[in-house]
Amino acid sequence: MNFDHMQRRWSSLRKVLERSGPFCRPDFEPSPENLQMLVDHCKVLVVGAGGLGCELLKNLALMGFRHLHVIDMDTIELSNLNRQFLFRHKDIGSYKAEVAAKYINTRVPGCNVVPHNCEIQTKSEAFFQQFHMVICGLDSIVARRWLNGMLMSLLVYENGELDQASVIPMIDGGTEGFKGNVRVILPGMSPCIECTLDFYPPQVTYPLCTIANTPRLPEHCIEYVKVIQWPKENPFDCAIDGDDPQHINWIYEKSNDRAAQFGIQGLTYRLVQGVVKNIIPAVASTNAVIAAACATEAFKLATSCSASLNNYMVLNDLDGVYTYTFEVERKVNCLACSQVPREIEIEDSKYKLQNLIDLLCERPDLQMKSPAITAIINGKCKTLYMQMVASIEEKTRENLSKTLIELGLKDGTEINVADITTPNTITLKLKFPQDNSASQ
Ligand SMILES: [Zn+2]
Repeated sequence: MNFDHMQRRWSSLRKVLERSGPFCRPDFEPSPENLQMLVDHCKVLVVGAGGLGCELLKNLALMGFRHLHVIDMDTIELSNLNRQFLFRHKDIGSYKAEVAAKYINTRVPGCNVVPHNCEIQTKSEAFFQQFHMVICGLDSIVARRWLNGMLMSLLVYENGELDQASVIPMIDGGTEGFKGNVRVILPGMSPCIECTLDFYPPQVTYPLCTIANTPRLPEHCIEYVKVIQWPKENPFDCAIDGDDPQHINWIYEKSNDRAAQFGIQGLTYRLVQGVVKNIIPAVASTNAVIAAACATEAFKLATSCSASLNNYMVLNDLDGVYTYTFEVERKVNCLACSQVPREIEIEDSKYKLQNLIDLLCERPDLQMKSPAITAIINGKCKTLYMQMVASIEEKTRENLSKTLIELGLKDGTEINVADITTPNTITLKLKFPQDNSASQ
């Protein structure tokens, strides 16, 4: 591409990168080289090629980023087409990452998007290490946590000092209906996903007694039909299929009856669909704003032209547009980004292994999914329980009903826990109640 064309094509960016201003970072030096750096060298990974991913790729490509990779394991569905604008009807069934990359590469001259049609968990450390930053447009908390753990594991410490060159910033965008958020994470330096895990409440479930006895919301009526009436009447001789209109219709009619009985308003077919499939509708405008904020943060990080978001932005465009930013804090004993081993308090000495596993899954600051536990007992490494591998599950199942003491665990024993929420094994130190541990 010739010089003249470069001058004209990026004239807006050049105004920002070749002039000084009140919001520039102190280390920013206005120069044509800033643009050249961005265009020639900056390598960015976009995680997710869905609603946010399409917006992100388009924004980044039009802002001068040329070395882009995109990773997504999903294929395109009809219901994506209203907002995932890089896809057309003929693309249904194809990989999102592949189609998105091809579209951008054809449409934006000089831009090179490399697609990866797979799960992030299949990629090695070396893969992630090649990027200058990672931008997430994910709808999965587990995948976010895993990626967070991966970027943490790439950090290099020398004599307790963090080597800044090993830090790969993560820009995380998230949307849910009319709400969205953006955060900038500098692994090892600023609060990470696990530091603020309690921001993600476990999925909404309604107490069974409310559903059965005192429903107040249309959702309660739908849940009642879903969890109580369907299994009892089994109208189609099979489990509920959220994509089968007959099933949804049946649930709609029955929940309507129940809503009428309790005088509850607001039950619609769409709501039934939403509750049954556990989906919150995606809103294109929310995606657009959040992706734009993410891309701007990427541009700021890549060029130093302005200070980064510090460190959490919230958007709510349900009723007007409301947005603000605030600073979340690092957790001193964060499992992912602090070097401090976490203690797990055991309430009583009769605690069974099953109780410990439940604790790991239920604690808001851990929220594990299917933890596998190993420990060094009497000098030997023992697997206490592992759900993921059937043969090991069978062999270790009997341990679930044993108490921790029967299994040889004591106050101060360190257990190693592996889970799908992190690529790294986590070490937790057991803390037994004082009087009981003395009798050990
Ligand atoms: Zn952290």
